[in-house]
Amino acid sequence: MVYSPLDALELARRHPDREVVFFGLGFETTTPSTALSIQQAAREGLRNFSVFCNHITVPEPIKALLDDPYMQLDGFIAPGHVSMVIGTHPYDFIARDYRKPIVVAGFEPLDLLQALLMVLQQLAAGRTEVENQYGRVVPEHGNPVSLAAIEDVYERRKQFEWRGLGQIDASGLKIRAKYAAFDAEEKFQIGYAAGPRHVVEPEGCACGAVMTGRIKPTACPQFGKGCTPEMPLGALMVSSEGACAAYWQYGGARGEAA
Ligand code: SF4
Repeated sequence: MVYSPLDALELARRHPDREVVFFGLGFETTTPSTALSIQQAAREGLRNFSVFCNHITVPEPIKALLDDPYMQLDGFIAPGHVSMVIGTHPYDFIARDYRKPIVVAGFEPLDLLQALLMVLQQLAAGRTEVENQYGRVVPEHGNPVSLAAIEDVYERRKQFEWRGLGQIDASGLKIRAKYAAFDAEEKFQIGYAAGPRHVVEPEGCACGAVMTGRIKPTACPQFGKGCTPEMPLGALMVSSEGACAAYWQYGGARGEAA
């Protein structure tokens, strides 16, 4: 286990006889550090380091949620860590084109309560704007160093498949051809380089319905039975930030399920 792609780089330096592949996963929060590690590997001319790039972006799946005819969400609380990198403007289309309020929020309980209040105030006043509750961390135009690294290393995939949501246009990142030597997909002909992929959902998974607001996590047939934080079936139960994990941890659901 490594805590950073730079740890994977160090492994590659220490073991030049072995191939080190870093599994690059996550939204814009983790995308820049993977990009920096690829740039560093290129500077050092490391030949045994590559990244299996599964990085994804936030605005595109929000757009997919908004385009879902069953969408029942009234507003959005945007992730502070992602927004620290991309700024607030990538969310403009949500307020402008879809007439939904969105508030960038921090992670402390008071941050979330204030962001929720700001969303409700917009709804009550009939306003739809992008507001930034987390101004102490999130600059309007994001982090220029991170954005430059992202632009240098990645390009958009035409489509990327999401668990529970299916294919979403331009929602995944691929390593640019100039860094192909560090792209595990190209190097080992895996992932999309091996052809189209399709992730089969485990039976009874209702992740898509939870994400689009159609049902609450507790209504998923797998909640607390086949799917728990210890043995997650869906992404929403994997991370402590996931809706299902939060219901499990804080919603009194653990007791109910037991
Ligand atoms: S309980 Fe598990 S399977 Fe059901 S929606 Fe949540 S993450 Fe998906």
